[in-house]
Amino acid sequence: AFDVLVVGGGPAGAAAAIYAARKGIRTGIAAERFGGQVLDTMAIENFISVQHTEGPKLVAQLEQHVKDYDVDIMNLQRAEKLIPAKTEGGLHEVKLASGASLKARTVILSTGARWRQLGVPGEDAYRNKGVAYCPHCDGPLYKGKRVAVIGGGNSGVEAAIDLAGLVAHVTLIEYDSELRADAVLQRKLASLPNVKIITSALTTEVLGDGEKVTGLSYKDRNKDELHQIELEGIFVQIGLVPNTEWLKDSVTLSRHGEIEVDHRGETSQKGIFAAGDCTTVPYKQIVIAMGEGSKAALSAFDYMIRLPAE
Ligand code: FAD
Repeated sequence: AFDVLVVGGGPAGAAAAIYAARKGIRTGIAAERFGGQVLDTMAIENFISVQHTEGPKLVAQLEQHVKDYDVDIMNLQRAEKLIPAKTEGGLHEVKLASGASLKARTVILSTGARWRQLGVPGEDAYRNKGVAYCPHCDGPLYKGKRVAVIGGGNSGVEAAIDLAGLVAHVTLIEYDSELRADAVLQRKLASLPNVKIITSALTTEVLGDGEKVTGLSYKDRNKDELHQIELEGIFVQIGLVPNTEWLKDSVTLSRHGEIEVDHRGETSQKGIFAAGDCTTVPYKQIVIAMGEGSKAALSAFDYMIRLPAE
């Protein structure tokens, strides 16, 4: 059995595995796809102390760093079920889709999240070429340009306010007849001179010139008319979905499906910790995921040294 079993191989999981292995305890990491969302990222300019890097390069460095330690890396392994220990200090069990089952004294869940996609033509083709999901990450790339934000919930309206300070013009597009964001955010948005809000609008296509985004088309749902907007960037803000469906019977999740953790990264189950985008910790970013992963590993170690000797 492992002392620490990390499930998920993104920045949070890699950091957790390194911090655990550095304590000289038996550490394993099972990941469906080592690297996680970072593999899908091109320019990264907010990984502090590294001015510029690219996702695949950062993933290769993460993997190399983990391999410097005695960590059992199980890549391309999807966890399907977590069975918490029956007694405190007992072994937790993680069942994999392959049929195998792993046992561990402590588990760190770091299965990340995925951005909900529009699912319209052009979105896949122009991802990272004008189609973006993270204003903190990619906002500065659109300085002085025209962008749209799709989604009028809190994250969409926050993104529009944030971007309005950087870009030339923001069009906020909402499917419903009104925005769903908090009133205070809506008031702030309405006060900005370079923002246009379009409601009852169904985005139908991302338009491009073969290399990058040049616009989008949407259907006015009241008049059933198609319109086009010329722009350089589209921020999709229709939800971030945590990869926690498999955990709903094992640990407490928030109503958004995020794993609830305390300030030490511990879940509702003793000896089971969680870190990164799959948790309730706000702001889904690489540096934050790494910090939280490190914290969860130190908490797991603290938990273990307090267990009675067998
Ligand atoms: P993830 O990176 O999502 O990793 C999750 C891991 O868990 C993966 O290995 C996955 O395969 C695995 N997994 C999932 N389910 C299971 C399962 N059931 N069993 C086993 N393994 C499983 N952040 C920045 O700071 N700067 C940026 O510039 C930036 N740009 C971004 C651009 C894009 C296009 C995207 C999508 C995100 C970007 N982010 C950026 C956000 C950043 O990538 C995430 O905050 C970060 O990767 C979260 O790390 P994580 O380890 O929590 O989760």
